[in-house]
Amino acid sequence: MSILNTEQHETFRQKVRAFAEKEIKPLASQLDENETFSVELAKKMGQEGLFGIDIPKEYGGQGMDTLSYIIAVEELARVDSSQAATMCAHNSLGLAPLYNFGTEEQRQKYVPMLTSGEGLWAFGLTEVNAGSDAQGVETIAEENGDHWLINGSKRYITNGSNELMKGVTVLAVTNGENGKKRFSTILVDRDSEGFQTKRMLGKMMWRASDTAELKFTNIKAPKEQLLGKKDKGLGQMLKTLDSGRLSIAAMGLGLAQGAFEMAMEYSKKRVQFGKAIAEYQATSFKLADMALKLELGRNTLYNACKLKDAGKPFGKEAAMAKLYCSDIAKEISDEAIQIFSGQGLLKSSAIERFYRDQRILQIGEGTSEILRIVISKHLGLV
Ligand SMILES: Cc1cc2nc3c(=O)[nH]c(=O)nc-3n(C[C@H](O)[C@H](O)[C@H](O)COP(=O)(O)OP(=O)(O)OC[C@H]3O[C@@H](n4cnc5c(N)ncnc54)[C@H](O)[C@@H]3O)c2cc1C
Repeated sequence: MSILNTEQHETFRQKVRAFAEKEIKPLASQLDENETFSVELAKKMGQEGLFGIDIPKEYGGQGMDTLSYIIAVEELARVDSSQAATMCAHNSLGLAPLYNFGTEEQRQKYVPMLTSGEGLWAFGLTEVNAGSDAQGVETIAEENGDHWLINGSKRYITNGSNELMKGVTVLAVTNGENGKKRFSTILVDRDSEGFQTKRMLGKMMWRASDTAELKFTNIKAPKEQLLGKKDKGLGQMLKTLDSGRLSIAAMGLGLAQGAFEMAMEYSKKRVQFGKAIAEYQATSFKLADMALKLELGRNTLYNACKLKDAGKPFGKEAAMAKLYCSDIAKEISDEAIQIFSGQGLLKSSAIERFYRDQRILQIGEGTSEILRIVISKHLGLV
């Protein structure tokens, strides 16, 4: 327990942990092996109140703080990153921009449906020529009478193709008056004519999560589907990513915690040269280093959450938390494999899945290189 969280946070953690242990853990390995996105589990997460934890109750959320949401992400990632990814993307990329920048009509139309688990919502920034550089977006939305005419494509979109997916917030070019490239976000319903989606299979990690390619061909989205103000899309995206980075940090922390616990347990049971390998300093120092990194990661992340909840700037701290927690997920899962050795390399060991799942955390929602640029900017260096 850290001084940054309360008894209520810990009670909530135990509740989410019990859900993750009972409903997710027994299925995680098989869903990963078969690349199955589980509609049932997604619905259960919604029913459990894991969608919209920090959204007010009048919209069907739980009305809790950012730290509660982050603790829930941590607890899912402690057993399975794929389900944590589904939950995280839906909360921080799907629901959050809709709630934060939406009109009252848009909130009423979408948020209650998305907090209940009835539907999932995706967020489409990434394209073939727009990854780290959001300004490379080529999907275009032209004003045409009472609607936007949208053409283009997106790739790597989480929750983009499963049967619960109801639509996507699309970052598109909306050219400004002087012909300058400007960007806006538009809510595109899945049942729009001209909307195509295809699941991307064959990932090394998050294999039970839904990652999709989207294609928009002459989609007519009513004018009132614009999210926030015209030409302000990039700013919205950057704000969304600041919070999204807290989610990815929590995924790193939770995964690292799970890997640490597995390594602890195994090291006490595995006997070589007449004693448990935990009794060799070579092993206990590894575990001590892991515990230290978890402590530092947790404090950094929880501090960033506290800043956000206090309405203070938290962009630098979120970038630091994401960078650090994704790094320790890599280091701790790697050292855990070293402790398991041969057994850790087999698919029958959960640690093998953890080792693969951590790899995206240094890439999604800002690569580690981009995060260093973000931190440097906050230091006044760029
Ligand atoms: C499973 C999965 C789920 C995802 N979910 C979503 C989603 O829901 N919505 C969405 O919009 N996107 C999503 N993404 C996309 C993800 O955010 C991008 O993959 C990420 O932003 C990196 O973009 P890229 O892969 O095109 O890499 P690139 O931008 O091409 O980067 C390649 C390399 O170049 C480096 N680089 C680039 N620019 C610089 C620079 N200026 N200085 C130094 N180094 C640089 C990068 O750090 C990296 O090492 C997802 C991706 C995956 C794999």
